[in-house]
Amino acid sequence: MAERGTYLDADTGGFGSGDWVIVGAPLEETACYGRGTSQGPAAIRSASECLEDYCPIADRSLKDLSLVDIGDIPVNVVPFPKNLEFIRNAITKIVGKRARPMLLGGEHTVTLPAFEAVFERHPDLCLIQFDAHADLRDDYEGDTFSHACVVKRIADLVGPARIFQVGIRSGTREEWGWMRRHQTIYPSRPQGIDKLMERVGERPVYVTVDLDVLDPSVLPGTGTPEPGGTSFQGLDQLLRKLGALDVVAADVVELSPPLDASGVSNVTASKIVRTMLLSL
Ligand code: MN
Ligand code: MN
Repeated sequence: MAERGTYLDADTGGFGSGDWVIVGAPLEETACYGRGTSQGPAAIRSASECLEDYCPIADRSLKDLSLVDIGDIPVNVVPFPKNLEFIRNAITKIVGKRARPMLLGGEHTVTLPAFEAVFERHPDLCLIQFDAHADLRDDYEGDTFSHACVVKRIADLVGPARIFQVGIRSGTREEWGWMRRHQTIYPSRPQGIDKLMERVGERPVYVTVDLDVLDPSVLPGTGTPEPGGTSFQGLDQLLRKLGALDVVAADVVELSPPLDASGVSNVTASKIVRTMLLSL
């Protein structure tokens, strides 16, 4: 997918202003149903080998981009949630050089420290979340850092007016009450995205894609599948539209390779990453 560097490049350079920097965070701590997110970054990279660099829809190639892959953040050397600091530090270094992180999860919890790091540099930062689930619980079985709470933690930080949610079809009565009250939900259709983009305006954006926003028939390799999701083309089209916004960081999370023996989910995830790199 990209020139291979190592995680250490985050310290030594190897990238600069405007570059996309791919970095993995193989975090698997709070998944409650299916396992395997720790294998996500490696599977996305390996599946990228079977995709062309060139995308005919965008008429652009990954070779046209300034793109570097700095490998994975060592999330396994200290216990959770202390290891979230490693993610925050890595993303701080990337945005500190005015480069754009493309973070590969890992479970959705990785978005919290990454968002915090980008928010420090961009105080007007908004979050656009593609997900089947609201992720707005205050805690999940006592754990406030669960992937089921990640968007609530970010809303605590920036307020609900900067949260934009697409594809949500599952949540508790309380979560749905919150989303209706704050009008954070947009339909996963082009008109919905137009409305969302109008509201975001010129502000900097962090785009997080929880792959379970796709229908499980399209991407079964995820820990908390939820029927009723988007098609591949549907999501692909919505993501391309976001290219008109000031996207300063992005992530793709919740791929669980062992849950799809065919390997197709890995290729699908990899193609979503390609779309984002080429369009955002
Ligand atoms: Mn989800
Ligand atoms: Mn999620």
